[in-house]
Amino acid sequence: ITQPDLSVFETLESEVRSYCRGWPTVFDRARGSRMYDEDGHEYLDFFAGAGSLNYGHNNPVLKRALIDYLERDGVTHGLDMSTAAKRNFLESFQNIILRPRDLPYKVMFPGPTGTNAVESALKLARKVKGRESIVSFTNAFHGMSLGALAVTGNAFKRAGAGIPLVHGTPMPFDNYLDGQTPDFIWFERLLEDSGSGLNTPAAVIVETVQGEGGINVARAEWLRKLADVCKRWDMLLIVDDIQMGCGRTGAFFSFEEAGITPDIVTVSKSISGYGLPMSLCLFKPELDVWEPGEHNGTFRGNNPAFVTAAAALETYWTDGAAMEKQTLARGEQIDQALRALRDEFPGDTVEYRGRGLVWGLEFRDKERAGKVAKRAFELGLLIETSGPESEVVKLLPALTITPEELEEGLRTLTRAVRET
Ligand code: PLP
Repeated sequence: ITQPDLSVFETLESEVRSYCRGWPTVFDRARGSRMYDEDGHEYLDFFAGAGSLNYGHNNPVLKRALIDYLERDGVTHGLDMSTAAKRNFLESFQNIILRPRDLPYKVMFPGPTGTNAVESALKLARKVKGRESIVSFTNAFHGMSLGALAVTGNAFKRAGAGIPLVHGTPMPFDNYLDGQTPDFIWFERLLEDSGSGLNTPAAVIVETVQGEGGINVARAEWLRKLADVCKRWDMLLIVDDIQMGCGRTGAFFSFEEAGITPDIVTVSKSISGYGLPMSLCLFKPELDVWEPGEHNGTFRGNNPAFVTAAAALETYWTDGAAMEKQTLARGEQIDQALRALRDEFPGDTVEYRGRGLVWGLEFRDKERAGKVAKRAFELGLLIETSGPESEVVKLLPALTITPEELEEGLRTLTRAVRET
């Protein structure tokens, strides 16, 4: 067996990288739900570019659209100007996603990454309400820039910023798992009691399923209550759908199941469908208080990403009900396999939770998730960990994975758990 040449990564690249450090190989090619390293080893991918490849690697329809666009010398720069590619994306987004769902949003292109979308959402909410504080939740993850870190509930990630990250107010996330749902009664008490120091926040930012935080699933009922509290206290509701949107939980937006309409929504990761950087900040039209140029930048109009994004919407979401049904059916397959795994182990050694095609397998022994991921890699399955102590194995396959591939990966996962 040839040893992969990792020397330049080890000597030149910073230690800061977290993803995939446990995978000592060099990836070279990828197609659908498979990745291949330089030495030709094949891996089944249950990570999907951290949720940025919901339609699989090098999806043939999106690839064709991109090649055609490049071959006719379509505009490739990232400036946020009016281009045919952007118009086509906006029209597809309106016709395929917004109109059928009766969602009235305006669309802003805040920059290449999810973090950029979060920053713009926070800034907009503060501008609209003229207030500073934003409520966020324990274990939340909203990005790594300073504004987004202020609403991210991870002490390790926040500590490096070196300054107090103020104007974020943490609250417990839906805590039903320990049977002590905090509800919102005392949150409202704090809001009522100006002596508590919690002056009315401008907004609340929430993930419907905390992806980086350990696959914590908020109940639809909890989300509805949260939307209600926001309305009563004149706070904007921001749903960060960067990881859970674009069909990850079944419907295109993860909040659809709860029947709520957030004031602001952030979208990124799989919106381009091809791993090309792109993000959206969506907001109700009355919130469009931006002045031209008040929040701009160079890479806000990734034209090749618009091309693949439009192709993805047209291919997979013209019949959104079929897409949702397929995702939920695949999710059921995972549910069954994880239930069997949990039942195989005594007591509460293994717990699991999830929705649609995002699932987490948590171990009482917190170090075990990392060991399982490592063993899975050796057996040809790519899975990452999540949660504050990386104690959860995270399953995030492409939505286009076949039932056979899914079964194969779940068998490998089961074996990896048994062997660790
Ligand atoms: N918000 C959520 C919910 C995320 O999962 C992520 C990334 O994982 C981000 C924001 C940050 O997005 P990005 O890494 O593209 O900046």
